[in-house]
Amino acid sequence: MNLDSFENLFVQKLRKLYDAETQFAQDQPGLAEVAGDEQLRAALEAHVEVTKGQVERLVQIGNMLGVTLEGETCEAAKALIKEGQEIAKEGGDPFVKDAALLAAAQGVEHYEIAGYGTASAYARRLGHKDIDKLLQQTLAEERGADTLLTEIAETSVNEQAAS
Ligand code: ZN
Ligand code: FE
Ligand code: FE
Repeated sequence: MNLDSFENLFVQKLRKLYDAETQFAQDQPGLAEVAGDEQLRAALEAHVEVTKGQVERLVQIGNMLGVTLEGETCEAAKALIKEGQEIAKEGGDPFVKDAALLAAAQGVEHYEIAGYGTASAYARRLGHKDIDKLLQQTLAEERGADTLLTEIAETSVNEQAAS
């Protein structure tokens, strides 16, 4: 890890996000398949395409900075994915399983919101206004996904899991 300058820290953060999004893009289709609740499955499926767009946006940012974002591993994303996969493999009540899956998916969104919030603040501090705009687009998508998951939890999935 190169922590010699704030600019390097920014690039480092982007690389971690790039690896995290790439991991999530690969994992999400399998997780969506396991969801029983139709709204939950639709939300998870829709986010697969959004995530692919976010990977592309990061590639675009790398190009703007003249750096490659390949080569880092985001260990936190690995752990979050593992949590979701463990739930997917479990038996038990399908409604309760949906509630657990939703919570795991929401954990991913929260992690991303934190990461893009930081990257956006760095971009602004470094004067990369155009890059910040792209990061803000992704941040808005992650917040939207989080809000939708909260709605699905509170109007459907948690109620079914509790009954
Ligand atoms: Zn710069
Ligand atoms: Fe994402
Ligand atoms: Fe996301």
